[in-house]
Amino acid sequence: MTLEEIQEHSIFPVGGENTAFAGYFQGTSYLQMLSLKQVAIGNVTFEPGCRNNWHIHHAKEGGGQVLLVTAGRGWYQEWGCPARELRAGDVVNIPPEVKHWHGAAKDSAFQHLAIEVPGAETWTEWCGPVRDEEYRKLR
Ligand code: MN
Repeated sequence: MTLEEIQEHSIFPVGGENTAFAGYFQGTSYLQMLSLKQVAIGNVTFEPGCRNNWHIHHAKEGGGQVLLVTAGRGWYQEWGCPARELRAGDVVNIPPEVKHWHGAAKDSAFQHLAIEVPGAETWTEWCGPVRDEEYRKLR
């Protein structure tokens, strides 16, 4: 899927360029926060090849993240594990304290809703980028 196809058919607003987190992404992404009360939910759209850096959702209690894939094709990978291919309708439960990344496939744009699971003392630690040589091995 192209970025334009996702932008045109998105059920939820796509928002503007995700400049706030651009330093933690390779490529261009778009962010629209859908909920800031009770549970924070953001709609994140990635251009083909765009992915976020390795990162960890820390929490003393609760926490982590749930991804609901809404369009395109992409990947989720935990440190030391093979990458999991993602398509619309897939659900990813990301436990707290697990180093991981998520993003688009090289030939497809990608979109997911990111639900921040509430918890105590939650924060996100951003690590290094997913290296091109690792990323290029993915279909
Ligand atoms: Mn995450």
